[in-house]
Formats: sequence, C-alpha cells, structure tokens
Amino acid sequence: MKHARFLALSAGLLASTSAMAQERFITIGTGGQTGVYFVVGQSICRLVNRDSAKTGLKCTAPSTGGSIANINAIKAGDMDMGVAQSDWQYHAYNGSSQFEGDKFDKERAVFSVHSEPFTVIARKDANINSFDELKGKRVNVGNPGSGQLATMEVVLDAKGWTMGDFALASELKPAEQAAALGDNKVDAIVYTVGHPNGSIQEAVSTVEANLVPVEGEAIDKLVADNPFYAYATIPGGMYAGSDEDVKTFGVKATFVTSADVPDDVVYEVVKAVFDNFDRFKKLHPAFENLKEEEMISDGLSAPLHPGAEKYYKERGWM
Ligand code: GLU
Repeated sequence: MKHARFLALSAGLLASTSAMAQERFITIGTGGQTGVYFVVGQSICRLVNRDSAKTGLKCTAPSTGGSIANINAIKAGDMDMGVAQSDWQYHAYNGSSQFEGDKFDKERAVFSVHSEPFTVIARKDANINSFDELKGKRVNVGNPGSGQLATMEVVLDAKGWTMGDFALASELKPAEQAAALGDNKVDAIVYTVGHPNGSIQEAVSTVEANLVPVEGEAIDKLVADNPFYAYATIPGGMYAGSDEDVKTFGVKATFVTSADVPDDVVYEVVKAVFDNFDRFKKLHPAFENLKEEEMISDGLSAPLHPGAEKYYKERGWM
C-alpha cells in the first residue's frame, strides 16, 4: 500500500518535471522603445505567446542597444534571436567591417522585415539641407551597439570624414535623441530606421524640423559596391515639415538567430508570424507592405536557419 502510494507520487512528480522541461523561454533582441525593432520583437512575441500552452514557448523582447548589440548577444548565447540591419547581418557572418576578426559563423537568417532608410533630421533653424552641411554641426550619431552608429561610421569613412568633423557627435539613445533635438542640444539626428517611427514623430512634434537628403558620389559608391545597400525614399508628408519625398539610401531590418537555437524553436516562431501574417502586418504601419516572398530572401546573407527553411518549404515558398 505504502509502496504503491510512493510510486504514484513519484510518477506525479516525474510528470510535472517533464511538463516543466517543455516550457522554454526565448528572448528576442530589439532596439530603443521609440524605434521599430521594439515593435517587431513585441509583435513576434505576442503571436508566439498566443500558442504557449501548445508549444511551451514563452517569448520576451526587451529593449536593447540595437543591431550590433543584438548580434553580439545572440553570438554569446545571451539571446536567442534578434533584429539586425542587413549590413550588420552580412558583416557579422563574413567577419568584415566592425566584425573583422570576430566572425559569427553560426549566425543564421530567419526573414527580413521592413526597409530602413538612413535618416537625417535637422532643426529648421540649423538650416541643414544636405548631408555635407552637417559638417561643423552638433549631431547625434547614435548609441554604441546600435546599427545606427555603426552605419554612420561607414558613411563617414566613405566620405573621408571622421567624428571630429562635427562640433559634437553625441551618442544618445533613440529614446533621448528627439528631446535633445527639441532642446537645441543637437542640430541633427541620424537614425537608420523604419518609417513612420516614434522617435522622428516625437522630434517633429517638439520642434520645427526637416528631413535631409543623403546623396552624392560616396553614397552611389556604397550602393554600387554592397548588395545590402539600396537607394531609398522617405515619402513626403509622412512627417510635419517634410512635404517632399527625401532621397537617401538604406538597408533592410532582418531577423537573425544562431545555428545553436533548436530547429523546432525557430520553426514555431516563424510559424507564429506567417500563420498569422495579416494580424502581424497590422501591428505597425511599417509592416503594411510586407510580402512573404520578399521577406524570405531580401537582405538575407547568412544561411537560412533550418527551422525557418522547414516552414517555408511546407508553405511551398521554396
Ligand atoms: N536600425 C537601428 C539599429 O540597428 C534600430 C532601429 C529600430 O529600433 O527600429 O540600431
């Protein structure tokens, strides 16, 4: 009798331990709260968590420093997935540019998301109407760990400039940069980001400001030489003070992970997004025009994670 009860008890214990083992926590790296990456991560988690009872996956998407910070966190195993600009996905996998000597062989692509124009916005009273007019001005170049700062460094290099060409090169986070522009602490901010976004909206609602075109020989060469850069246009009328289309160049926001993340985890995350794609697209205006066939190829340079590939094959997309 006693013995039987003990057996039943331990069977119960075993059952509950194995149920617990199936509960898996995944973390998605995003960006600043006023950017679009934060919404990408939060949206993916919301869809993943709807199926938690079935899949055991519990997803969180905290605010982070951005692309470079996310890639480094995934590489270190501190995060499972994250959003990163297509240029930094490429450089991490290939060990080039900022990732020279620091190759992330196990980096895997999942899908790409929205386009991110390299965006410059300036106070109207600073009278900045071209990238060249930023010389000698106070510019927020972005926080360390952001793709924003890293891509700005690429542009400065391409132009033969350094941070010393600015009167001030501040490294404020996206959540702080709009207020700095409004308070006249900086003349302009540089942000590689999807549109519309909270940071630029906040900036133009605090101070009269205009988007600045980013064009010229150095940019033409960047676009010609690198598959992950393309010309981009920020549509007129999107923000107060910028009625005309503004030409620049840009990248894609992409979703990346590591080969160390199990196939079934990546599969479930991808399934949560694409099984609920109409719902996903409604979660941010920058997602409105996303197309499945572009998302599984554009801007991806690391190999596809097998868990993602499995889902795309099932859907007949590959
Ligand atoms: N592209 C930016 C970065 O990599 C982030 C933009 C966003 O948060 O939406 O740092």
